[in-house]
Amino acid sequence: MLTFSLIKDGVLRLTDYEGTVLSLDFEGRVLVYAKGGTTYRRTMQNRYLEIRYVDGKRNVKVLGSGTGREIGESAFEYVSACRENVQDDSVKKILEHIVNKGPRFLEEDAKRFVKVYGGEIPIVPPDQYFPVYLQATVGCYWNQCTFCNLYRGKKYSVRNPDEFREHLSDVKEFFGRGLSARRGVFLGDANSIILNQDLLRNDLLLIQEELRLPVYSFVDSITTQKVKTAEDLLEISRLGVRRIYLGLETGSGEVLKLLTKPIDLSSAGNLIIDAKRAGISVGIITLAGAGGKKYYREHVEKTAEFISHLPLDRNDIVYISPLYIYQALPYAEISHQVGELSRYEEEEQAVILKSLINEKYRLLNGSELRAPVAPYDLVESIY
Ligand code: SF4
Repeated sequence: MLTFSLIKDGVLRLTDYEGTVLSLDFEGRVLVYAKGGTTYRRTMQNRYLEIRYVDGKRNVKVLGSGTGREIGESAFEYVSACRENVQDDSVKKILEHIVNKGPRFLEEDAKRFVKVYGGEIPIVPPDQYFPVYLQATVGCYWNQCTFCNLYRGKKYSVRNPDEFREHLSDVKEFFGRGLSARRGVFLGDANSIILNQDLLRNDLLLIQEELRLPVYSFVDSITTQKVKTAEDLLEISRLGVRRIYLGLETGSGEVLKLLTKPIDLSSAGNLIIDAKRAGISVGIITLAGAGGKKYYREHVEKTAEFISHLPLDRNDIVYISPLYIYQALPYAEISHQVGELSRYEEEEQAVILKSLINEKYRLLNGSELRAPVAPYDLVESIY
């Protein structure tokens, strides 16, 4: 086996003539493993996502723990085999370090992960699979949306400065040499930007002191605009915040009521405008399927209308995520009343929504929307 190795941006890549590609951090955490036409992504919680393209369509599934273990072992065997072949001394040293840990490392690492974070991390945006995740707050301040099960059962809490310093130090120790592979910090959980500005400033300063990385975060579009001024946003932009992700879900007031998400759409729009002025880009998340059959047109029209009025550029992104309906949550009952869309109908609505967003933007602004409109599937969004 002839092996090629490359260290780039703190990531080790191993490949060969058979087309196998394995990306690892310097501690041996598998990032991406591609072999035999299938790509696997390992999450920090040691779950593996299998990514295949069938008839040009992206197909993703979360593998069971047994299959995941086999993928991890296969990656480990590949590392061992590569160690015999690589010439580069610095790569050899990293491979020695990984091989010495043994194949159980990946499972043990996931257990340490759960200890450090006090549980699992339910979600990150699709362009944030490999950040350093830090929790300035735990859970969701609002936690009442009828469709959302992300932080149910998690009590909302705020880390004080000492707790945050300790948390950051634990996280740094956990990542070890693997820190070099991380391109940013994701500040969780659901809405840490609403923290009191003094506390937020303290956390951001510490992040820059310790990690010097750009910061990304979810914001809830219910509370954030009530507690953050344009000056606050400017300050956090200067302290490294690069993009905020807003769960808008819909531009329809009627559908927002069904979701129990009391967003004042005009002030959510102002928040986005202020963020953009402050140099913070935005990721806007919309839900295909929200409002069911009854509000199908209203949801699509009003969402596209809302987005077409925003000053978006190529640094921003609009996500369309399929709505998952959980029987244990209040939205299940609502969806019976409004007529639930099938998965196929949701996919169709996502296509219509994307096209209408682009069309309305073009008509209103006389130019193409430069922000990409991309899919966002909760299944894939595991950290
Ligand atoms: S959708 Fe967002 S704001 Fe609503 S409960 Fe879930 S995390 Fe909180």
